[in-house]
Amino acid sequence: MPSLPKWINDTVENVWSSKFKTCTVLHIENISDHLRCIRFTADLEDVHFEPAYAIGIRINDRDFRNYSPFNFNKEAGTFDVVFHIHDPEAVGSNFVTQLSIGDSVKILMPRGKRFFESNAKIHFSVGDETSLGSSLSIKEAVEKSSCSYICLHELEEPEVLETLKLYGYHTQKNNTMGIIESLTDFLQEEKQAIYNNDVVFYLTGNGEKMSLIRKFLKAKEVSPKCIKSQAYWIKGKKGL
Ligand SMILES: Cc1cc2nc3c(=O)[nH]c(=O)nc-3n(C[C@H](O)[C@H](O)[C@H](O)COP(=O)(O)OP(=O)(O)OC[C@H]3O[C@@H](n4cnc5c(N)ncnc54)[C@H](O)[C@@H]3O)c2cc1C
Repeated sequence: MPSLPKWINDTVENVWSSKFKTCTVLHIENISDHLRCIRFTADLEDVHFEPAYAIGIRINDRDFRNYSPFNFNKEAGTFDVVFHIHDPEAVGSNFVTQLSIGDSVKILMPRGKRFFESNAKIHFSVGDETSLGSSLSIKEAVEKSSCSYICLHELEEPEVLETLKLYGYHTQKNNTMGIIESLTDFLQEEKQAIYNNDVVFYLTGNGEKMSLIRKFLKAKEVSPKCIKSQAYWIKGKKGL
């Protein structure tokens, strides 16, 4: 989201007041040196949620940042977010490191374009640290059906996958060949499902990496309608 003058952000908050909720920080878990999982609580009864929707947090007068809630429980009035603290100096990361239990945060409730394809037989989520929340929300939706879920994350600290119960492929950072090799294995194993358009790929995380993977999948004859993608960050750009 672009940086805007304070008065515009104030006006947005007032005019769209029904889209914002005051949320309280209920629980904080540092799942690694660079990943912080926070549970928020609020009245969520009237809030519509879909997998891979994003919340907006106003992290200062001028800026909002997008994050992906999961474990979204309307009845309990709670949801979780995994924050990637990629640089403690960056405004969003810095805001998150300052949060303590009991703090109130005004949050723009989940919204987004429809991403999740409920008709797919196999759901494959690909991304990095910033994608963990959306991958988890997709996994939760898949687990309510009889379909299959698989994921591939490029991570600095792959052990967090076990903590988050997000089992699947993983590669070290900046190992594009590793991603291509894992996808090649999968495409080989699921040739027929790919041919039948039964597999949907959800690509999120770094924008440049995502477009590379998209090109690779298309070259391997994955139908473009079976590839959903959204860039979560791009080197040198602030707050997509
Ligand atoms: C729909 C959507 C959902 C998202 N969900 C999540 C989520 O659940 N969890 C999460 O952590 N992030 C998520 N993001 C990404 C997050 O909004 C960005 O990483 C954001 O830029 C962080 O803000 P910042 O102020 O910390 O860094 P910024 O000030 O925005 O960025 C400063 C610079 O840091 C670099 N940078 C930004 N993000 C990263 C990164 N993750 N790793 C390495 N370098 C980076 C870029 O070069 C950028 O120019 C999501 C983004 C979108 C659009």
